[in-house]
Amino acid sequence: MEIEELYSRFTECNGLTTDSRHCPEGSMFLALKGETFNGNAFAAQSLAQGCRYAVVDEPQYASPENPRIILVDNCLETLQKLANYHRRRLGTRMIGVTGTNGKTTTKELIATVLGEKFKVLYTQGNFNNHIGVPLTLLRLKPEHEMAVIEMGANHPGEIKTLVHIAEPDYGIITNVGKAHLQGFGSFEGVIRTKGELYDFLREKGNSTIFIQNENPYLNKIATGLTCVRYGQTPGLDVTGKVVSCSPFLRFSWTAEGTSHEVQTHLIGSYNLDNALAAVTIGRYFGVEDAKICHALSSYVPQNNRSQLVHTASNTLIVDAYNANPTSMMAALENFRQMEAAHKVAILGDMKELGEGSHEEHQKVVDFLKECGFERVMLVGPEFGGTSSSFEHYKDVKEVEALLAAHPLQGCCVLVKGSNSMKLSELPASL
Ligand code: ATP
Ligand code: MG
Repeated sequence: MEIEELYSRFTECNGLTTDSRHCPEGSMFLALKGETFNGNAFAAQSLAQGCRYAVVDEPQYASPENPRIILVDNCLETLQKLANYHRRRLGTRMIGVTGTNGKTTTKELIATVLGEKFKVLYTQGNFNNHIGVPLTLLRLKPEHEMAVIEMGANHPGEIKTLVHIAEPDYGIITNVGKAHLQGFGSFEGVIRTKGELYDFLREKGNSTIFIQNENPYLNKIATGLTCVRYGQTPGLDVTGKVVSCSPFLRFSWTAEGTSHEVQTHLIGSYNLDNALAAVTIGRYFGVEDAKICHALSSYVPQNNRSQLVHTASNTLIVDAYNANPTSMMAALENFRQMEAAHKVAILGDMKELGEGSHEEHQKVVDFLKECGFERVMLVGPEFGGTSSSFEHYKDVKEVEALLAAHPLQGCCVLVKGSNSMKLSELPASL
């Protein structure tokens, strides 16, 4: 079926779902395949549950007698084409957000600020890949005045795919850092991939990007684009600085001669850039300064990252969802600067670093030697291969056993590691 015709069926529907456990009445079901499931097998069930149409790509699940089952060549490609078609039809002003760290936070902050003036559609949670981006775009409604779309990548070419689906009008790369080096091949690979957002905007012509002024890598690849700048250098479109961070960030910002101070609910001084990005974009689109400040001071992160947890015995900063060299160093630097007694860092391996893994873990350990934390507990085989006198544990179970025998009391504990290290299980023992 041609995309125009499929789109006209989509417009009869109340949204699109790919999850057979969630089939809203009147929606379109689209069958995706994963490692352990084949959505095609759920097509009939989705119709029985209330979907208006089911889109499949395996002929045995289609039936000539049932016009509500639509056969296409490839459901994933169809999803992406449909999303692009929809996005073009609605023509919503769109901002693409990518970067190594801080995408979700920045996206949320931008959407919150723009939400003071516009009806904004934005990526839910971390729906930032080749499936999440199209699903987000298909939620666009005519009433949306702006959209903020998060785009993630682990491999070269992924951002290119996403920008050709979303066709953003504006772009922001939060930063470039060392993550997923295994997938990207090298740090240059990371920069090139994130730069695919700029490449798209450059080809489109007459495009504006929002750029962290002090980032040399971003500046190098931003040629030919109109740049609206934020950072710590005086005289930028928006200039800001950290006022305090103990642990919640308080920052000041100045633009066109007026200054403001904002108390946030964000942990970590690295959030300064994320917040300044939102200020810059808010101002660019004409949100009043007072409303920008109000939005940023009211925003409470929902994404389970960098959460402050008070247990009966300790204060915890739990950041166990992801870890890469850049975010690990940012978290440690922040923890070092925090005013707190009895600091304990419990750090798990940073995964997917490929060849450079040993070196990156050693760099973290060397930095830890300068930090002067009361105690450092390293967890996982990668940290196990580094040289230091810090305590080392095989896995989270070993740490739990130790904490059960010798509980921590009255400490401020940073818990950070890659998701697969399962450090998110530790708070129960702390
Ligand atoms: P993901 O790749 O998982 O989607 P993300 O890019 O969306 O991540 P966030 O979820 O916003 O990033 O933040 C994840 C972690 O990255 C934070 O908890 C923090 O440790 C770190 N981080 C956030 N912003 C920055 C920044 N500007 N610079 C360095 N590290 C940051
Ligand atoms: Mg994210």
